[in-house]
Amino acid sequence: MTDCVFCKIVKGEIQSNTVYEDESNLAFLDINPQAMGHTMVISKTHASSLLELDDDKLKSLIIAVKEMAKKIKDKLNPDGFSYGINQGKISGQSVPHLHIHIFPRYENDGGSSVHSIVKNPGPRSVEEIYEVLK
Ligand code: AMP
Ligand code: ZN
Repeated sequence: MTDCVFCKIVKGEIQSNTVYEDESNLAFLDINPQAMGHTMVISKTHASSLLELDDDKLKSLIIAVKEMAKKIKDKLNPDGFSYGINQGKISGQSVPHLHIHIFPRYENDGGSSVHSIVKNPGPRSVEEIYEVLK
C-alpha cells in the first residue's frame, strides 16, 4: 500500500532499526519505545488487521513474534512480556498495517496488565453474551 509507513519500511523507503527478518515478516524497534526493547513485528504483506491477513501469513507472523521474543529474552533478560495488537481507531491503532507490539517487562517498570486496557463490561450478563457467541 503506497501510503502505509510500515509498507515503506518493508520496501526500504523509510529507515528502521530492523532486528529480525524472514521471508514473510519483519521486526523493528518502535520509534517511540514504551519499554526497553519495545519491538514491532509485521507481515511484509499489507493487511489492516489480523482479520484481513491470510491464515498462512498470520501463522508465520506469530512464529516471528516468538522468534523475536526469544531473541529479546536472550539479549535483554526481561522478567516477562506483554504483547499487543490495537485494531481500529477506538483501540488506539495509529498505523493501518497489522503490527504486534512486543513489550518486554521488567520488575518495577511501573506498567500494568492487559486487564487495564478497558473496564466496561456493559449491561449484558456473561450468560447473555454466551448465548450470542456460542
Ligand atoms: P499503534 O498505535 O498500535 O498503531 O502503534 C503504532 C506504533 O508504531 C507506535 O508505537 C509508533 O511509535 C510506531 N511507529 C510509527 N512509525 C514508526 C516508524 N517509522 N518506525 C518505528 N516505529 C514506528
Ligand atoms: Zn502497509
